[in-house]
Amino acid sequence: MAGTVKAAILRGRKTVETVVEEGLNTVDTVVEVGFNTVETVVVEGRKKVESAVSLGRKTVEHALLHGRGTMQAAVLHGREDVRIEQIPIPKAEAGELVVQVGAALTCGTDLKVFRRGYHARMIVPPALFGHEQAGTVVEAGEGVEDFASGNRVVALNSAPCGQCYFCARGQENLCDDLLFNNGAYAEFIRIPARIVAKNTLHVPDHVPLEHAALTEPLACAVHGFEDSRPHPGDTVAIIGGGPLGLMILHVAALAGCQVIAIVKHDGQVEAARQLGATHVVQTTNIHKAIRETRALTEKNRGVDIAIEAVGAPEAWEEAVEMVRKGGTVNFFGGCAVGTHVRLDTNRIHYSDITLRATFHHTPATCRKALNLIAGGRFQAGAFITGHAHLYELNRVFQKLMKRSSEIKTAIVP
Ligand SMILES: [Zn+2]
Ligand SMILES: [Zn+2]
Repeated sequence: MAGTVKAAILRGRKTVETVVEEGLNTVDTVVEVGFNTVETVVVEGRKKVESAVSLGRKTVEHALLHGRGTMQAAVLHGREDVRIEQIPIPKAEAGELVVQVGAALTCGTDLKVFRRGYHARMIVPPALFGHEQAGTVVEAGEGVEDFASGNRVVALNSAPCGQCYFCARGQENLCDDLLFNNGAYAEFIRIPARIVAKNTLHVPDHVPLEHAALTEPLACAVHGFEDSRPHPGDTVAIIGGGPLGLMILHVAALAGCQVIAIVKHDGQVEAARQLGATHVVQTTNIHKAIRETRALTEKNRGVDIAIEAVGAPEAWEEAVEMVRKGGTVNFFGGCAVGTHVRLDTNRIHYSDITLRATFHHTPATCRKALNLIAGGRFQAGAFITGHAHLYELNRVFQKLMKRSSEIKTAIVP
């Protein structure tokens, strides 16, 4: 009997132990599964909240930008006909940027376009107008990796294709498919994907946007100067005291050249001196300009390099007469279509004169230009002689047509 009771107790204990153990296992499993479920819910919940926040932010930003819907922009309709119009704010498609213009600069090319009403290569009306600007990114299209909202940038007015015969030879300025962008005189400007990829640069914090906007013309000046194959200490004559003549002058002076500036107007004399000209010849008479420039060189030898920055056939001919034997002439200024020059073939051949012409800029000279501006030795402020609001644009161009002493006016939208 005792044995039976003992066996019953033992069995009973085992059963209880088994039940307890199984119960514990079940509780453990339930707790573990419960934990996992809670963690998953928390992680997924956080993800959902994060994506909702980011989506909400994007929607708000988008709404702020496009809710306004329209912006003020200058539209060129024809000869001396620029109107400030209310047009839709551009949207950034894939690879594109929308930039809020900080400052746009007037330019000799724009003045030419204003006077003629078109530019065969760059602009056909009705069209957005202006091509030198720097600003702040407000929208980056899908796939843009190098730029984001809030970045300060200078987006150039063109970009080469990178694939044609000329691009392959490093002559991107001659690209068969150079893509131009206009619309700088506006509150916002759309930057096409190719320009974003190839010719948009970050502006360092210490560089004001209106200085950064000088990158485009300065890139042309740097290109023209480098193309003239200068050596430090060379004597360089620069014909023309317009914005680009003064820029090439300044670049040449900073590179250690002796610069003779040939200008017409009083205001240009002052500017040329300030920007580093060693000598200034002020005259409207071509023969006098040639004589006086030669007289400034040893034994009337002539200058090492003459750069024409007027864009007039007479000035091209003048440049050829200023250089020494073995010298280089750069026909930098573009003349009107259909014009021709007369050159002394004997002099060019027997004096071994190199004739060059430089058009536009390349991605490399754009980068050099911004580095010059950011470097501190380049007097960017000297090139911006006035400020005006967008709605004053017409008046600004009328004034520039009268050949005022203004170099560049910053148009602030
Ligand atoms: Zn320009
Ligand atoms: Zn190309």
